[in-house]
Amino acid sequence: MSVGLVYAPVYLGHDTGDHVENGRRLERTAELLSSSNLRRQLVSIAPEPAAMDDLLRVHSAQHIARVDRSASEGGGWLDGDTMTSPGSYEAAIYAAGGLARAAGEVVNGEVESAFALVRPPGHHATRTDAMGFCLFNNVAIAARVAVQKHGLERVLIVDFDVHHGNGTQDVFYGDEHVLYISAHQYPLYPGTGRVEETGMGAGLDHTVNIPLPPWSGDREYLLAFEQIVVPAARRFQPQIVLVSAGYDAHWADNISSMQVTVGGYARMATILKHLATELCQGRIVFALEGGYHLQALAHSVKATIEVLLGLPAGKDDPLGPPPHSDGKVDIAPLLQRIKATHGL
Ligand SMILES: [Zn+2]
Repeated sequence: MSVGLVYAPVYLGHDTGDHVENGRRLERTAELLSSSNLRRQLVSIAPEPAAMDDLLRVHSAQHIARVDRSASEGGGWLDGDTMTSPGSYEAAIYAAGGLARAAGEVVNGEVESAFALVRPPGHHATRTDAMGFCLFNNVAIAARVAVQKHGLERVLIVDFDVHHGNGTQDVFYGDEHVLYISAHQYPLYPGTGRVEETGMGAGLDHTVNIPLPPWSGDREYLLAFEQIVVPAARRFQPQIVLVSAGYDAHWADNISSMQVTVGGYARMATILKHLATELCQGRIVFALEGGYHLQALAHSVKATIEVLLGLPAGKDDPLGPPPHSDGKVDIAPLLQRIKATHGL
């Protein structure tokens, strides 16, 4: 099975200095993929810049121009935690374009699946605004391109970043072509992602939120995947699965309280890969979102790619289980409420 990898130095040109979302995230991950001999088993997909027409499928012209201007004027802050540098516009259009190209190659059968190791991340970017370290919404753009250019009718987005992907939800809130499912810590930034947010109009019931309580770990995420993600995906019958793959629910990542391990990410990836095999000829593309503990991020991405390659996954985990896990979090009532809300 051929697995594509999108990665290029252009993504390091979004120079955020000591910001938690920085280029060392990609460098460390790429180094581990190379040193563990995984990189040569992957098909390199050279990213290209997203066409303006494709950016406009999701974002307002004013937003695109604002990001371009901010970068070309030397960089600055677009909101309290989202910055640009002179290379940020180019990195951002290559992130969106690289992911869209990977999805296109998967749709055309050139590779079976792919991982897009890109930055800046995307899932907080709304139609009109940058926020939460995100400039353009990479996954949303890839999904729109898949529908509007490649003619797909049903695209599934699964978002396991620890934060709710408010931008992606917003873009597709009234859109019946995209099923958006997010498992995230709640409460946490950005504050959205309640069970009751289910879509509107033609998109009603096409937004599924799984707001997990703090301290959830592998067990809770896997229950949520088995009981919500899998049946919702089967009902939707997607033609491709796009994954907003953030690894910031890892127990070592200080940005959240979650307790996921590298092995937990491998099992989530396995469930998603099996779903894609069952429902859409294995078409699945992972796109990097968050993940700020460098070692946890690198090993979790590596485990995800091992799953895609059909190799034993997540065995190499220098971080191990969470040191302060205080047992189970009872999410049964939450899962019941989500099932009732969506008729699952
Ligand atoms: Zn995140």
